[in-house]
Amino acid sequence: MTTVGVFGSTGSIGTQTLEVIAESDYNYDVAVLAASGHKMDLLLEQIGEFSPQTVALSDETKIKECKDRIGSSVEVVSTEALSELAGIADVSVNGVVGFAGLPVTLGCLQAGKRLALANKESLIAAGPVVQKARCTPGAELIPVDSEHAAIHQCLRANTVDSRVSRLQVTASGGPFRGYSRDQLEAVTVADALDHPTWSMGPKITIDSSTLMNKGLEVIEAYELYGTPAGTLGYGLGLEDIEVVVHPQSVVHSMVTYCDGSTIAKLSMPDMKLPIGYALAYPDRLTQPYGSIDWSQTMRLDFEAPDRELFPCLTLAYEAAAVGGVAPTWLSAANEVAVEAFLSEKIAWIEIPTLVEKVITSCEPLDATSLEEVLAADAEARRVAARLVRDWK
Ligand code: MG
Repeated sequence: MTTVGVFGSTGSIGTQTLEVIAESDYNYDVAVLAASGHKMDLLLEQIGEFSPQTVALSDETKIKECKDRIGSSVEVVSTEALSELAGIADVSVNGVVGFAGLPVTLGCLQAGKRLALANKESLIAAGPVVQKARCTPGAELIPVDSEHAAIHQCLRANTVDSRVSRLQVTASGGPFRGYSRDQLEAVTVADALDHPTWSMGPKITIDSSTLMNKGLEVIEAYELYGTPAGTLGYGLGLEDIEVVVHPQSVVHSMVTYCDGSTIAKLSMPDMKLPIGYALAYPDRLTQPYGSIDWSQTMRLDFEAPDRELFPCLTLAYEAAAVGGVAPTWLSAANEVAVEAFLSEKIAWIEIPTLVEKVITSCEPLDATSLEEVLAADAEARRVAARLVRDWK
């Protein structure tokens, strides 16, 4: 039996994780469910179906309501001790949105357990701190992000680490691929929330529309598979990580080896597949998700991203090249910018403008301790919030 902790259980990744577990022949036991508490009816349904030992809520005002409604058989706690809760189960699925997912990433890895990581922001904002935690004996990071799960699978064709020469991270291009500047200026919140191929939460859907999601994924790929060469990486530089726009979202990413071979991973877009991969690794789930029907005619198109109209991609490469707290600032500034757009305080086309303004205030400091990362995140949010307040 494998025990599983699901963090962000009522969100898009959390609900799909529980569906995979319910549909699986494997003996998974849900030990921990953590959620905000804002979708109480759904959480209570999950508690009833999976009988976790512990439930954690980030909104403390909801704890009493939850306790009253489920009785005394389940422990209900606040998410203050999130990092400890992330060390309980054999596998913790981190589906928390944004920087708030960092304690789950660190707690799980520091406890020497497997982290199924859907929360890319924790890896981007606190890369050096997470790298240290990954060195804990027993710790294992399996990406749930579909592109990185694809690269993880393509790399299993590899026997000599130094033979990997490039990674191709694929991007659907989002709903505004091919738009003119005039069209982009008129984008509404509803337009941006309507993703053509993937069904995801609002933050990542907006990030996909600006290509910031792809920029963050380049940094994520660099942290997961880049330098340093050896036990964690493949000695790749940022310039070895390419972004390829592929509107059908069937090729989920690729690895090119030094002999010119490119190995790609294909399936129809379905997040349950990478979730199941991270749960079952090194085995595979026996139930299929996203299988391709090869009797149907299918086109696979590839093109270069338009960096001029989607400058978030370049901002991400630049922040990664600076290193230290620069990616922390990038990620924090972007979270504030996305919230400002969703609450209609800034226009869609101003998201990169705001992010760029924030990160120009960033001093190039190291991010080797958790304290440094938390301070950088807080400072970037302060700068961003001030800019949003005075935005014209
Ligand atoms: Mg992705």
